[in-house]
Amino acid sequence: MGLVCGRVEGMKDDAKLEKIWDVVVIGGGPAGMMAAIQAAIKGASVILLEKNSGLGKKLLITGGGRCNVTNAEPELRKLVGRYKGSDQFLFSAFSQYDNQGALAWFHSQGMPTKVENEGRVFPASNTARSVWEVLVREMEKSGVAVRLNSAVQELVSDQRGLITSARLVDGSEVAGRSFIVAAGGSARPETGSTGDAWAWLKQLGHTIIPVSRALVPIAIKDKWVKKLAGLTLPDIKLTIVLDGKREGSRKGKLLFTHVGVTGPTVLNMSRSIGEMLPYGDVTLLLDLLPASDHGGVKEKLYEILNKESNKKLKNSLAMLVPVALVQVLLEIAGIDGEQFSHSVKREERVALVALLKAVPLRVQGLLGEDKAVVSSGGVALGEVDFKTMRSRLVPNLYIVGDVLNVDRPSGGYSLQLCWTTGFVAGASSWSEK
Ligand SMILES: Cc1cc2nc3c(=O)[nH]c(=O)nc-3n(C[C@H](O)[C@H](O)[C@H](O)COP(=O)(O)OP(=O)(O)OC[C@H]3O[C@@H](n4cnc5c(N)ncnc54)[C@H](O)[C@@H]3O)c2cc1C
Repeated sequence: MGLVCGRVEGMKDDAKLEKIWDVVVIGGGPAGMMAAIQAAIKGASVILLEKNSGLGKKLLITGGGRCNVTNAEPELRKLVGRYKGSDQFLFSAFSQYDNQGALAWFHSQGMPTKVENEGRVFPASNTARSVWEVLVREMEKSGVAVRLNSAVQELVSDQRGLITSARLVDGSEVAGRSFIVAAGGSARPETGSTGDAWAWLKQLGHTIIPVSRALVPIAIKDKWVKKLAGLTLPDIKLTIVLDGKREGSRKGKLLFTHVGVTGPTVLNMSRSIGEMLPYGDVTLLLDLLPASDHGGVKEKLYEILNKESNKKLKNSLAMLVPVALVQVLLEIAGIDGEQFSHSVKREERVALVALLKAVPLRVQGLLGEDKAVVSSGGVALGEVDFKTMRSRLVPNLYIVGDVLNVDRPSGGYSLQLCWTTGFVAGASSWSEK
């Protein structure tokens, strides 16, 4: 798909900048694209401003590249109830456009879906690009103009308090009648979501709830961690994996507790772990011998097993890792530690090497007072009318998606929030006129 670039580039020259657009959408993520489509379908002239050179960069990495597009929960009350603390605000928006509405729309666009565990819905194609293609194609079809490489720096208001234009970093201005802010939050800033909108909205009088910076221990689902409570591993590497995809790692010290892990490495990673939790299953891979690569660990293990061939496997392994860990590793791998080192089978050796480089720790959540969830941060919900997604402070401003302070669990709820708020804002920003 041509990413509507041609039209974008052409636009700078054809005096469109002097035009007053009915609706100006800031941010080309899922919420902004949905809003732009709905406004354009209603007959508004719509321009979408995106600072990246392409649209939906974050959307393309969702769900490990497969995009958990929504959740299949059939009951509206239950669905809205999952957004704990925000449900009373969200109901009026969700009663206009919910997961069934979004699914029906994607299906009507020729994008079949499938439901996996806990109601997580994915495109049948197993790729986020299918979702991206529907949105980009519908923007083109409905006549949304897109300006890429256009970072908004501030919103300009008149003396009545109405926004008149969006000023870009290059100094140019895009004038409009309604403005939909869809510039995202601040998780994964390399995708373009750098929390820019919060500064403009604060200037307009909105309250911005700060993103909470968690520095807390991590609770682990695997019951065996309890057996290791008190054990310190001074030199390990920990890698965060979200839905099977590696999301970053750190080296340092780790300490096992009765319910999970802590220590400097864990504490320093806890914010990233907390940010990932709403988006899927998070696992930490514990590399017990980070100084050696896979080949090096294999060499070490084989050497010990050969040298100590008449020792029991469990005693040979204790030459590589702390004794307390040996039994746990053998249990995870399902290998008999009482056998002699010389009789360890090839596949058992392979499994042990893999485990020494990556013990999986399935994350349950963050620990600590009121810190079970890293607050997403964003615009205080009481300042937005969820019937229209219009700001209660600025009459021609609409706020959608991750810019809002809505905490949600893992399972497609974040994108559903984008479809719902984007749909409602897009339709209202024009029909109200
Ligand atoms: C790794 C990861 C995996 C995820 N997986 C899932 C999942 O499977 N299911 C799910 O429901 N949710 C998932 N999410 C969450 C989901 O991606 C977000 O909730 C969603 O992208 C928010 O959409 P948005 O349109 O509000 O903002 P964003 O997607 O953040 O888009 C905002 C856009 O605005 C642009 N922008 C920012 N500032 C400016 C500016 N100054 N001027 C112009 N443009 C600007 C950005 O470049 C960006 O393109 C995941 C998140 C992450 C980080």
